[in-house]
Amino acid sequence: MQDEALATGHQECDILVIGGGPAGTTVAPLLVEKGYRVVLLEKARHPRFHIGESLLPANLPLFERLGVAEEIRAIGMEKWGAEFVSPHHEHTQMFHFAEAWDKSMPYAYQVKRAEFDAILIRNAEQKGVEVHQGCKARAVDFLPDSRVAIRAQHDDGRETQWRARFLVDASGRDTFLANRFQIKHRNPKHNSSAVYAHFAGAERHQGQAEGHISIFWFEHGWFWFIPMMNDTTSIGMVTWPYFMQTKGRRSIEQFLMDGIALCPTLAGRLKEARLINQVEATGNFSYVSERNHGPNYLLLGDAYAFIDPVFSSGVLLAMKSGLIGAETIDTCLRQPEAAGAALKRFDRLMRHGPREFSWFIYRVTNPIMRDFFMYPRNLFRVKEALLSVLAGDIYGRTPIWGSLRVFKGLYYLANLFQPKRAFMGWKRRRCNIRHVDDPTLTVPR
Ligand SMILES: Cc1cc2nc3c(=O)[nH]c(=O)nc-3n(C[C@H](O)[C@H](O)[C@H](O)COP(=O)(O)OP(=O)(O)OC[C@H]3O[C@@H](n4cnc5c(N)ncnc54)[C@H](O)[C@@H]3O)c2cc1C
Repeated sequence: MQDEALATGHQECDILVIGGGPAGTTVAPLLVEKGYRVVLLEKARHPRFHIGESLLPANLPLFERLGVAEEIRAIGMEKWGAEFVSPHHEHTQMFHFAEAWDKSMPYAYQVKRAEFDAILIRNAEQKGVEVHQGCKARAVDFLPDSRVAIRAQHDDGRETQWRARFLVDASGRDTFLANRFQIKHRNPKHNSSAVYAHFAGAERHQGQAEGHISIFWFEHGWFWFIPMMNDTTSIGMVTWPYFMQTKGRRSIEQFLMDGIALCPTLAGRLKEARLINQVEATGNFSYVSERNHGPNYLLLGDAYAFIDPVFSSGVLLAMKSGLIGAETIDTCLRQPEAAGAALKRFDRLMRHGPREFSWFIYRVTNPIMRDFFMYPRNLFRVKEALLSVLAGDIYGRTPIWGSLRVFKGLYYLANLFQPKRAFMGWKRRRCNIRHVDDPTLTVPR
């Protein structure tokens, strides 16, 4: 793969990281700790808005590991659980992380990403990472001497070139390397879009439930309700592409407000609320890259894959990939004879997270799965296992897998016993994820 030729005159480093989001700001300081010279390029300047505000309990040990736990605690709204609200059920269903299999991770945080990411990048810099903000990686060249040449442009127009022994792509949904390698593919099993904004004055639950994330299903997808500090609540409408097409000439604000009106329980909680920032939209965000590594590069976090935000797993997967990535790079550089095995392990762990969450993501809007969420039972500890997935506790020696298999088995059995409902659910989903320009499919009611 050859980008444009890079001129001579460059700076040297061991590892160059593209992107100062959760993945890049996790891998970079961990590599400095191991004695490497690390350069991190971030095209924006922190603090900057980013979506991805609801974290999982399994994030907390990573904050401890990076030494930022207290700073995150200071900006975070405690999130002790999740609430599911269905238009087809009288009750709402609360899940508490304290009831997961591992009772030692009872809460997480809801954060404004501008503040959260600023803490992480400052921490990287304080730990000795050479951070360049306002500096966009533009070109990469894999050299015959197995080094990587990177050309970047600062926002004042200056250009700098680096040569590194290893390249980390943590550029998020910009997918810097996957685009250049042309290995990024739309997820054929999923396809949705989101419209989101911050509100003040939303009606929250009282006490410990104040910070719960609420998920409201509605006819065209689902909404998130994420309460954050200082009376800010993030509202997002995650919807199928066909519904996005119905926006027509309406402004994106109006489209969001009209969508909220289709979900009366959410509209009720926003009766007194007002918009406090710009409404944003993100289309067709579900993709995966063919590979996540090569001999001298890794793709971390969203730079490798992103499926769907429904289980708030993105930041966890990004930071986890940073942690595993640092160990992998260290092995590759220090013990080249063990590099093959280390990269294989990295690949396995990178695929593990998206695979485990995907099984639920592809089914969570199905009516039979909705019943499983609305009437959870702890037969064979399946509820505890489900809560462990919701908490992000899917790595290491967690004993949840047997119960999770039972959960999946019960779900398939329920489909067998309700064939008409199962068929309609399957057909509806097939229509929902279709390309919007496909006129042959109509959405069943
Ligand atoms: C609608 C929606 C809602 C979501 N909600 C949640 C949620 O509630 N909880 C959750 O955990 N996750 C959520 N996510 C996912 C979450 O946003 C991401 O998974 C997470 O931010 C990934 O982290 P990252 O470090 O891989 O990438 P990012 O956070 O995107 O960071 C990448 C960084 O790289 C920089 N960059 C890009 N290109 C270049 C370049 N060429 N040179 C230099 N810098 C570059 C960018 O400016 C950015 O700062 C959501 C995603 C979407 C689309």
